[in-house]
Amino acid sequence: MTDKNWRIESKLAQIGSVEEPVTGAVNYPIYQATAFRHPRLGQSTGFDYARTKSPTRKVLEEAAAVLESGDAGFACSSGMAALQTVFTLFSQGDHLIVSLDLYGGTYRLFERILSRFGITASYVDTNDLDALENVRTPNTKAVFIETPTNPLMMVTDLEVVSNWARKHGLLTIVDNTLLTPYFQRPIELGADIVVHSATKYLGGHNDVLAGLIVTKGKELSEEMAFLHNSIGAVLSPSDSYQLMRGMKTLALRMDRHESNAITIAKYLEEHPQVAEVFHPALPDHPGYEIQNKQSSGNTGIFSFKVTDARLVEPVLRNLKLIAFAESLGGVESLMTYPAVQTHADIPVEIREAVGVDDRLLRFSVGIEHVDDLIEDLSQALEVAHIEIEGGQQHE
Ligand SMILES: *Cc1c(COP(=O)(O)O)cnc(C)c1O
Repeated sequence: MTDKNWRIESKLAQIGSVEEPVTGAVNYPIYQATAFRHPRLGQSTGFDYARTKSPTRKVLEEAAAVLESGDAGFACSSGMAALQTVFTLFSQGDHLIVSLDLYGGTYRLFERILSRFGITASYVDTNDLDALENVRTPNTKAVFIETPTNPLMMVTDLEVVSNWARKHGLLTIVDNTLLTPYFQRPIELGADIVVHSATKYLGGHNDVLAGLIVTKGKELSEEMAFLHNSIGAVLSPSDSYQLMRGMKTLALRMDRHESNAITIAKYLEEHPQVAEVFHPALPDHPGYEIQNKQSSGNTGIFSFKVTDARLVEPVLRNLKLIAFAESLGGVESLMTYPAVQTHADIPVEIREAVGVDDRLLRFSVGIEHVDDLIEDLSQALEVAHIEIEGGQQHE
């Protein structure tokens, strides 16, 4: 990847294609070595020990930094490893302001682990500046944002919040997993750090577990390099390769994920067994305008509520093409039941206050033909409806 002025589709397709000078291989190879020979005393090839720096991972990390318009990239063994590495910036007594409708694993990290080290979090609607102001204390160090949130697709204005944060000397950290740099680049909107579960759209094939961190600014980048190496939750050479392999087609996949998801969201909006659809591309969604302003497209996941909780079990049992499975962002369509799966670690009062209840299903729309997906949903909802009505067919 040579030219920062290329459009993002070109940057993605060209990841690692000019970095290998020996053979000219257009796919950067997997350097499996953990140790690197020093030419002489006091000299280094730039590589010493693979936890600190490793050739295949380095190509991925540089690509991540360019794609997210940051200064440095760091590849980690999972999204959670990336988040833990980032939160190690903070110390005992520090406080963070965090998006309310948060990924369950990140909530668990704050409440069960970071809390033991004296790092606390307040959960608020990060799009409400008064709410942010109300929970800010002299110990607040950062705002951590997911936008859109998962599963309820709440949207936060990144420019407004990062301006507010900077005014108060706080860092803005954004989990950009759902939109990827193809659709949204938080650093360009004022964020300091971007984190990814690259397991999702960046990898894109449900076959590699990985996380990425991108930092803006020299000081923060140096601090993150220190933490990344010291903690050691780094990505392996073969997984780094596999992730780059997936990222090359990100633009094509995201376009299809987006259009499939919008078509299906509109279909479900009209469906008699569906009570509500949460998708920021629908004009009556509260995040519609901000999403349009700050992102060039929409993610491929959204949620919907069926009219009756008893529909959930038969719908999941009767889906044929769409798999009932956790995770999101892969080419294969997956349906999740957040209340018992991804969000099971969030206390029921908090979950339901936000709207993650027992009627909510989350759909990670894949890149299959949209008509096949609609037919599958349609038959599963129909069979489920007949089942709960005691075998009697209603109009
Ligand atoms: C999956 C996910 C994570 C955690 O990433 P892993 O790769 O599963 O460790 C963090 N944030 C979001 C938004 C996610 O979807």
